[in-house]
Amino acid sequence: MSAPSALVLKCPNCGEVVPHRVLRGKIAGKDEIVFEGVVRCSKCDAISNVVTREPKPIVVPLILSWLDRSEKTSLEFSPDEDVAIGEELDLGDTRIAVTAIESAGRRVGATKAKAVDTIWAKRIDQVRVKFSVNKGNRTVPHDVLAAPDEEFEVGEIVDLGKDRAVVHHIRTRIRTMRQGRVRADEIVRMYGRIVRERTSR
Ligand SMILES: [Zn+2]
Repeated sequence: MSAPSALVLKCPNCGEVVPHRVLRGKIAGKDEIVFEGVVRCSKCDAISNVVTREPKPIVVPLILSWLDRSEKTSLEFSPDEDVAIGEELDLGDTRIAVTAIESAGRRVGATKAKAVDTIWAKRIDQVRVKFSVNKGNRTVPHDVLAAPDEEFEVGEIVDLGKDRAVVHHIRTRIRTMRQGRVRADEIVRMYGRIVRERTSR
């Protein structure tokens, strides 16, 4: 591990908690990350020798649900960081929300990261919109992936890859819409029919 180029520290000279440029130093430590080095205060320019310690991040097992699948992965936390149901986190480029936490063999609402056995989470940066498409003599279910705040409108033509389909009506948790638009995460199911391409002359 290489030393950082700057650290936020309390200056021994002026007492301010401000960024300090690292002039030289090294990182070591087994259970903790220990920085030992020489820094310059960005406020008063005083140069000091410092030793800082912070707990090493821990790796917590995480089960991520997405569509019909669950995937085992993990996420790094600072040991004393709080983890709570409903909390939103970044897992790489994916935004996730914590749905369950197991600690000491039972489900809890919140706890410190170091007490967590497993976190369950779901992906929240995309939702699946169910779309029943009438293809003449049969209805075929499709899944349309969308951002939660992306809107769908009755009359809109949706690209299904090979086919395109027009939205006839949209069922939400509270009503069936025969006109207007609604957010993807409020849709229970959309209904529509395949659009026949016309060759223009
Ligand atoms: Zn200072």
